[in-house]
Amino acid sequence: MPNFDYEAPTSLASALELLARPGEISPMAGGTDVIDQLKNNRRNADLVVDLKRIPDLLVLESNGSGLRIGSAVSCTEVHNFTAENGNYSALAESSELVGSVHIQNRASIGGNVCNAAPSADTIPSLLIHEAVAHTASASGEREIPLIDFFAGPGQTVLQKGEILKELGVPTPSANTTSAYLRFIPRNEMDIAVAGVGSLIEVDPSSDVVTKARIALASVAPTPVRAYAAEEFLEGKNIDVEVIAKTADLAVEATVPITDVRGSAEYRKELIKVLTKRTLNICLERLA
Ligand SMILES: Cc1cc2nc3c(=O)[nH]c(=O)nc-3n(C[C@H](O)[C@H](O)[C@H](O)COP(=O)(O)OP(=O)(O)OC[C@H]3O[C@@H](n4cnc5c(N)ncnc54)[C@H](O)[C@@H]3O)c2cc1C
Repeated sequence: MPNFDYEAPTSLASALELLARPGEISPMAGGTDVIDQLKNNRRNADLVVDLKRIPDLLVLESNGSGLRIGSAVSCTEVHNFTAENGNYSALAESSELVGSVHIQNRASIGGNVCNAAPSADTIPSLLIHEAVAHTASASGEREIPLIDFFAGPGQTVLQKGEILKELGVPTPSANTTSAYLRFIPRNEMDIAVAGVGSLIEVDPSSDVVTKARIALASVAPTPVRAYAAEEFLEGKNIDVEVIAKTADLAVEATVPITDVRGSAEYRKELIKVLTKRTLNICLERLA
């Protein structure tokens, strides 16, 4: 592994000052992606700035408007918190899928987002909740809807010296359910060949879907929302035909590649199957 300097600041201000310095500076939270990339010469760093000791990045709370999840909060903590607090099944499910228990204990949700892998498991769950990325740099803070955060495989819209501070996840209504499923060739420790997060809100007096959100992993250069499928589903009573048509429309949002994990056609078929399954799980959860 190439040599690099290492700093572990304990305040956000110190971290931002370090990150604003000239040279190749790499923020690191859990390091489960960063260290591997450094070891395999897929990343250069003069300085690695460890974000795990900064209290501002370790916030995890539910308030009147929703969840605040600090970027350095581990996937294990996100899972435990969202499994116990509120209506965030998809987020609880996806944060429990990242690698093994050991990886989840170390890996942060912010690292999963900022690594910007098309296959990242927590991103579709955040997208269906219309999460907002709160960023910070030496020149100030900004808010970016998460759907606008990704610029390509491994690429985000973060500027040099800017980090993800926290994710804001609005509170879903009581009549909302969600689910996340991915397909991998083995039971764990693999990345998604395809993944689907679905969220529906249903009017209990009529069973009409008042809101639908569907987000896909591993089938485009960035995680994507399946807007045509969402629009079709909204305003309808869900039945087998509606679910089948929604799943067909979800495929329209994909531009998959063929690689060692699966062909483009296989990925499209997986999106169809996973969309149907996640919607059926949402319905079971509403019952
Ligand atoms: C064995 C193994 C299995 C894995 N399995 C899965 C899996 O099943 N699903 C999955 O989605 N991923 C998986 N991963 C990938 C990885 O564990 C996740 O992406 C993890 O969430 C990364 O979090 P981290 O805190 O370790 O990120 P780090 O490695 O610290 O950082 C990842 C990237 O984000 C940047 N970064 C981190 N925090 C910030 C911040 N606050 N602001 C700006 N940039 C930041 C870093 O500079 C780097 O580019 C696996 C990795 C390993 C090694």
